[in-house]
Amino acid sequence: MNSPSLPHLTPTLRTRLPLVGTTVFTRMSSLAAQHGAVNLGQGFPDFDCAPQLVELVSDAMRAGHNQYPMMTGAAPLRVAIAAKIASLYGHLYDAGTEITVTAGATQALTTAILCCVHPGDEVIVIEPAYDSYLPAIALAGGVPVLVCMQVDETGYSVPWDKLAAAVSSKTRLIIINTPHNPTGTILRPADVAALADIVRGTQILILSDEVYEHMVYDGVRHESLARNAELAARSFIVSSFGKTYHVTGWKVGYVAAPATLTAEFRKVHQYNVFTVNTPMQYGLAGYMADPQPYLDLPAFYQRKRDLFRDGLAGSRFTLLPANGTYFQCVRYDAISQETEAQFAEWLTAEIKVAAIPVSAFYAQGKESGIVRFCFAKQDETLRQALERLRSI
Ligand SMILES: *Cc1c(COP(=O)(O)O)cnc(C)c1O
Repeated sequence: MNSPSLPHLTPTLRTRLPLVGTTVFTRMSSLAAQHGAVNLGQGFPDFDCAPQLVELVSDAMRAGHNQYPMMTGAAPLRVAIAAKIASLYGHLYDAGTEITVTAGATQALTTAILCCVHPGDEVIVIEPAYDSYLPAIALAGGVPVLVCMQVDETGYSVPWDKLAAAVSSKTRLIIINTPHNPTGTILRPADVAALADIVRGTQILILSDEVYEHMVYDGVRHESLARNAELAARSFIVSSFGKTYHVTGWKVGYVAAPATLTAEFRKVHQYNVFTVNTPMQYGLAGYMADPQPYLDLPAFYQRKRDLFRDGLAGSRFTLLPANGTYFQCVRYDAISQETEAQFAEWLTAEIKVAAIPVSAFYAQGKESGIVRFCFAKQDETLRQALERLRSI
């Protein structure tokens, strides 16, 4: 019985995610706002998408595409995705049974992990790693097994011998990400071959985060696992329209996987998301009819990368290679010996350019003296940041 003299107490709960707090992205973005800094921290464009894409979504709403679509995604979009993958990577996924539209890549990643990882299963994660992988593994009751990339003057790379040594009889899943956030590294054919050697003859699945698939530079091709029939047969391949079409706020992505894996994926998808918003899907399907926008993306971002790198060339920062994604990692040891978080905070408050400490992408906060800048910004934004960074 409720007594007016007693406050209504909220029951306590034991957190499912004890290691999760406020993300560094939120912290650096509010610090950037507080100091009026140019925000090269969080990874999203400060420019708009193509007006035609907005028109196509509006057209879809006016045409009455406003009710639940199919659970698996609007059919025209799944067909368009399958056609794109076939033309770029030569692998024919069945649009009916092997492509699922998701609420952004993050949901695809979490759902893929939840559908295949049982409590106690081990998941190999390569660090530095995108921040959603570990919490999703924790929710599934999985055990993350962390393998650090090595970094030297030639940049970051995956130590495949160490990864092979991390495999055990409990390994259920290996998560890879190419092009790689935060390092800008891309996997090469030799990396894919090494991965194939490791999983051949095992029951290990692969989750391949390829949200930056259209951002590979200098004429190099993206090594989608879809190109490799042997690996595609055991992989969930994830991408994001937010990254490809400059619409990170729309949260539409997809997963491509063999029918048996897709069937399990959809069991989880059906009961935590069910469907992804309809007009966006029809708008995207219409927009995908023309491949030019994603074919033009490497040149579009390579120009920004070069503008940013050229601008930093005479500065006290040391540039690491940036072969893909819209991120540039730099060493700052000629400027400061502080931790990455301290340096990023100083940069934001005093120089008025926000960056992200790469240590935030390691579970144990490993320090390498490297911070990440995002160059998916208008040229004017980049020039303003460069002027400030060169003043150090
Ligand atoms: C941005 C990003 C995602 C998430 O994409 P959404 O479609 O916004 O959910 C996933 N993985 C990596 C590596 C990313 O950088």
